[in-house]
This record gives sequence, C-alpha cells and structure tokens, in this order.
Amino acid sequence: MHAWMRFWLGESCRLCSAGLLPMESGVCTGCLGVLPFAWMRNSLPVAVNEKQQINMPIRSWLLFSEHNAVRTLIHRIKYQSDAHLAFDLGCAMAKDFRSDASMVWPDVWIPVPLHAKRRRQRGYNQSEMLAKGLATVGGGSIDTHSLIRHLHSESQTKKSRKGRAENVQQAFLCTRSKPPEMPLKIALVDDVITTGSTLKSCCMALNCSGFTQVEAWTLACSGWLD
Ligand SMILES: [Zn+2]
Repeated sequence: MHAWMRFWLGESCRLCSAGLLPMESGVCTGCLGVLPFAWMRNSLPVAVNEKQQINMPIRSWLLFSEHNAVRTLIHRIKYQSDAHLAFDLGCAMAKDFRSDASMVWPDVWIPVPLHAKRRRQRGYNQSEMLAKGLATVGGGSIDTHSLIRHLHSESQTKKSRKGRAENVQQAFLCTRSKPPEMPLKIALVDDVITTGSTLKSCCMALNCSGFTQVEAWTLACSGWLD
C-alpha cells in the first residue's frame, strides 16, 4: 500500500501508537531510533558433510530479549497477522545497512520456509515479507522455490538448545540444483537467530545442491552466537 494511503488510513506506530507520518512505516522515527541495535556480524560453523565445514556469515540488525521492544515487534509479525510490519522492518533494516559502504548485497534472498501447514495457519511467511522489504530497498530477487520445509515441527520456543537442533536438522530440503546461470551470493532470511540450528540446517540443504556461498540475514539475534 502506498505510504500516503497508509497515512490517510491513520496507521500508527506499533510501539507507541503515535500516528505515523507519510515517510514513516511500521515504527515511528522516535521509536526506531532507540531500538536496541545489535548490528551483529558474525559467522556460524556449518558441517556440510562428514569432512567439510564452512563458515556461514551472519548479519543481524536488532538485539532480541524477552523484555524489550524487539520482542513486541517479532510477536506482532509472527502471531498478530501483522505481515506488513515485517515488510516495513525489512525495508528499515536494508536502509540502515546500506550506509555500510563495504556491504556486498546478495543477489538472491531465500526466506527460511515455513511448513505448508504453518504457512496456511498464519496466512503468510514472515521471513518472506522481511525478504521483500530487503529486496525492495537493497535489490536482488526472492527465491521461494529452491528450499522447502518438508517436516512439520512443533513450536521451537519451549525446546532446549539440543532439542531445537535435533528438531530442525532434517526439516529442510533443497528442491533443485543451483542453475549454472544463477548468481552465487545467496542470503537466507529469518526473523530471529537463537541457536542458529535452523539456519545451519537450511545452509546444509542448500550446500548439498550446489549453493556454496550462503550467508544469513536476520531481523534480530537473541544474544551473541558462540
Ligand atoms: Zn513510536
């Protein structure tokens, strides 16, 4: 929806409920400025087979905790049908990262897929909405076909670290080999990185099909990866 249309419809900030100005979307400038930024650049070791380990670069924008505003935003995009907020936050994240001149933007964004059943329940994939925001501002195309989630698992939130890793290890499948003409630089997109087990599993599935340059962009991280 066009920014002016949203303005006339009286859209308000998801954090302080103030009316948004036409140039604002999702979160007002005041609330955006005081979010807990992580700007995390890190990498995760991923064992792609028995002999080979690669490092997957990770880029996370915000710092998630149980008691901060980021939790409120994530909760809205996952459980309160606020798909547009995910798009807005993807745009805001891309605008912020664009100020980093050393940034090499991905050619293709691959949102971490939901299982079809979960997707039907929610009506959208929040990671896909984030990816749309990132691509709208930063460029690149979105690929929602190469990676699928073929195992449905229960909510991750109450599982232990080990339980989460086992839960997602076999959950993802890459549906095709990397086409020779497809650009190399792939970015997985997810809302929050916690242990990294979901992103590792996605990376392993993609790597098996020839996608060897995979990094991950997440809206938020919960603490620092070790
Ligand atoms: Zn606000």
